[in-house]
Amino acid sequence: ATEYLGRIKANAALNAFIATDEARTLAQAQAADAARAAGNAGALTGIPVAHKDIFCQQGWVASCGSKMLKNFVAPYNAHVIEQCDAAGLVTLGRTNMDEFAMGSSNENSAFGAVLNPWDRKAVPGGSSGGSAAAVAARLAPIATGTDTGGSIRQPASFCGVTGIKPTYGIVSRFGMIAYASSLDQGGPFGKSAEDCALLLNVMAGFDERDATSLQHDKEDYARDLDAPLAGLRIGLPREYFAEGLAADVAKAIDAAIAEYKKLGATVVDISLPNTRLAIPSYYVIAPAEASSNLSRFDGVRYGHRAADYDGLTEMYEKSRAEGFGWEVKRRILTGTYVLSHGYYDAYYLQAQKIRRIIADDFQKAFADCDLIMGPVAPGTAWNLGDKNADPVAMYLEDIYTLGVNLAGLPGMSVPAGFDAAGRPIGLQIIGNYFAEAKMLNTAHRFQ
Ligand code: GLN
Repeated sequence: ATEYLGRIKANAALNAFIATDEARTLAQAQAADAARAAGNAGALTGIPVAHKDIFCQQGWVASCGSKMLKNFVAPYNAHVIEQCDAAGLVTLGRTNMDEFAMGSSNENSAFGAVLNPWDRKAVPGGSSGGSAAAVAARLAPIATGTDTGGSIRQPASFCGVTGIKPTYGIVSRFGMIAYASSLDQGGPFGKSAEDCALLLNVMAGFDERDATSLQHDKEDYARDLDAPLAGLRIGLPREYFAEGLAADVAKAIDAAIAEYKKLGATVVDISLPNTRLAIPSYYVIAPAEASSNLSRFDGVRYGHRAADYDGLTEMYEKSRAEGFGWEVKRRILTGTYVLSHGYYDAYYLQAQKIRRIIADDFQKAFADCDLIMGPVAPGTAWNLGDKNADPVAMYLEDIYTLGVNLAGLPGMSVPAGFDAAGRPIGLQIIGNYFAEAKMLNTAHRFQ
């Protein structure tokens, strides 16, 4: 842990961490050493981990990348944190993120952008950009993240690390600050599929405090890492290789597929015909849920309260106006609009119907294949500032990741090379519900 704390300090310019607490980290490391000496060590006892600033962790500020919560000290632990602590993992600090997990570049953080360790002119991806950058720069061996529309897979892809978004309901959302509850899912980042499997073993598990937590038997996600891939049927959705995909990315994905064929896999042409509807559907549903979830930040119960106001209404208005950044405000306005009387049927209801159709498309595809592969994003990391002026250009970058969240499926990003500028490219692996062990096995054989 001391080694990593030193690296975090030396690389402060990356801005991957919002907070560290050396005394606390060292105390946890000592407790882990004592457990080991007493013969009570588990597989991960004493291993350092970085937590996305979205998970409530008792005694730490949980800012969620927002000015609204910059002084909010969590009074309790998220289920994920409880499990990590119980496993003896040592917290290195809290990683930077897009405000309330809204974004694809980490530039929406109230604590400033994170830089991509491969190229400091580039974004690290978002919203879990701090966690991805921390693992990429070896500031932490593993890290937690959340993925509502790609926020684990896309930064993993942009930073050249591995990350998995599990089946919805595998990781409890208790104590994970809510963005879009029906889509939010926690998951691990690591250098390898093996590291992700080990951290997922710790993060996953039924929790009755999350109403959507699944009563799924505890699995060992590392159990099949070395299983042979002979006979694996890989589906390639033609819509993921269409117009808009950068040539370098297409080339790297083709090379990865060729490698899988050598490992004994066969390739099937499949179709996910409603892929293009994922963006409009997601960008109605996610803001709708966000507008409701974020109504709790009213200056009374949590977070920022304006200094001067005249009456209760003005206190609400000023506190929210000052506490939220522009992207969060845009989502709240969009969400409130699509849920309002007269627009609900035209937008929200339609988006929900599309969501069902997209989930059905995946089930049809899985009749012909075991796993789906494709790119994580249409291109590699762009330069800081490049897409800030145009929110829609930023939303379009999510085309290949959103469908997985809408359907509740597991998806992961595996490093698969670099573009001509030396920026990492991620291969996306999508599985059917509960296929995490197979996906991690598939990724492991490639690494
Ligand atoms: N880029 C997407 C958004 O802004 C996804 C973010 C996420 O997965 N948290 O909503």
